[in-house]
Amino acid sequence: MKRRKKGIIVGAGPAGLFAAWRLAGKAEVTVIEKGKDIYDRHCPSHDRCIKCPSCGIIEGVGGAGGMSDGKLNLHPKIGGDLTEFITLEAAEALIDQVDRVFVEFGAPPANQSDPAPLLRRAASCGIEFIPARQRHIGSDRLPSLIHQFKESLINKGVQFILQSRVEDIIVQNNRCKGVCLGNVEIEADSVILAPGRAGSSWLAQLAHKYQLPTRHEPIDVGVRVEVPAVCYDEAVQVNWDPKFRLRTPTYDDLVRTFCTNPCGFVIRETYGANGTGVNGHALHFQHSENTNFAFLVKVDLTEPLEDTSAYGHSISHLAYTIGGGAPIIQRLGDLKQGRRSTWNRIDHSYVRPTLRVVTPGDISMALPHRIVTDIIEGLDMLDKVIPGVASGSTLLYAPEIKFSALRIITDKTLGSKIKGLYLAGDGAGLSRDIINAAITGIIAADGIIGVTPIGATTH
Ligand SMILES: Cc1cc2nc3c(=O)[nH]c(=O)nc-3n(C[C@H](O)[C@H](O)[C@H](O)COP(=O)(O)OP(=O)(O)OC[C@H]3O[C@@H](n4cnc5c(N)ncnc54)[C@H](O)[C@@H]3O)c2cc1C
Repeated sequence: MKRRKKGIIVGAGPAGLFAAWRLAGKAEVTVIEKGKDIYDRHCPSHDRCIKCPSCGIIEGVGGAGGMSDGKLNLHPKIGGDLTEFITLEAAEALIDQVDRVFVEFGAPPANQSDPAPLLRRAASCGIEFIPARQRHIGSDRLPSLIHQFKESLINKGVQFILQSRVEDIIVQNNRCKGVCLGNVEIEADSVILAPGRAGSSWLAQLAHKYQLPTRHEPIDVGVRVEVPAVCYDEAVQVNWDPKFRLRTPTYDDLVRTFCTNPCGFVIRETYGANGTGVNGHALHFQHSENTNFAFLVKVDLTEPLEDTSAYGHSISHLAYTIGGGAPIIQRLGDLKQGRRSTWNRIDHSYVRPTLRVVTPGDISMALPHRIVTDIIEGLDMLDKVIPGVASGSTLLYAPEIKFSALRIITDKTLGSKIKGLYLAGDGAGLSRDIINAAITGIIAADGIIGVTPIGATTH
């Protein structure tokens, strides 16, 4: 009888879990997960939240996706671009497959009312609105969904090794033969590395050690915007996380909305040592009176500095210094008038901040002038589609930075130049959201079992 191939998957985020789902029954599969580091997050509902230090789950299954609030963007060009590897039709077919798994384990119905009026209004203001089918699971419902998914994988024979960090890969004659956990070596026919953003610097070290070709990707730098929820009501009826993209008049830069949290909360995020930032999430069972979204400028660099991550970190260090270790909060009106915000001024506003572990200050002291100009101009444009977003009392929290991992160059099955070594997910710069990460996991799994992805073109 033919021996079944052994596959090791490093990382139990969406990329790793869906790679395991695809391989289950076709190969002997082991998923290795290091577990969560304690997060520096300040959560508003710490009895239920999985993100804050007091209640953080440390097992780590679900990855950053399992720790998020689970907005599923069922669109091949949001959160990455799957058409780099497979055709649009193939990408849509895989999105449907992944979506069915989420629904099987409890994802709620997709929301999308008629996008036509919003599309028309946005287009008339020079803004692109990208309607997408979306589901919103909620931070508080995601853990049980992930747990059920994990149990179903175990029932199909997938093994999990938890609380174990993979430190290296075993390479002989340009073939990957397994992984090293400290002194322990585990052999395999193929390995998928899916360590997510948390593992991106480790991946970059491996790429350097094994001379895998890489390239820097653009990053997004900007602010988290918080407005009264009523402002955003109409847009979130169309899409829970409405995606707007625009070009600013002065610099012609691309600015986009990202990660909208209707009735949600702004949260803190750390970008490494001495780096501060923000993010946002929404809960299923607890609501605030505000809606928040990221408003981000795309930053791509050419020589002499191509390392976009280094640039992003220098911005977050500066914000850390100016904010005394905390993110900065400012009213849009104060920013436009060139003065810092104070708690007194903020408390005079009717938008009450959902995050108060912040320093009222002046965002223009922390972000580059070009980005501040893009944000002010962009919000003025968006205000024509969503009246109220550019009001003086709108709250801005800075910085919010979406780093991109160093992209490891792969072929279209996501195989690397080392035979038997595959990459998947955010850590290798291949995706930027749950659905895209999951699908890169499936493509890598198909590469291992020798299935040509539907619609893949030759490389
Ligand atoms: C706060 C927050 C909110 C978000 N909200 C959303 C959202 O609503 N919708 C959306 O689509 N996306 C969201 N995202 C992005 C989404 O979570 C990621 O795009 C997605 O999780 C990437 O999946 P992944 O499998 O590539 O990596 P991850 O989910 O990061 O999983 C990688 C796993 O690998 C493990 N690992 C790393 N290194 C090692 C090692 N050496 N050995 C063993 N294990 C290792 C990590 O512990 C981790 O569990 C959010 C992200 C954050 C941080």
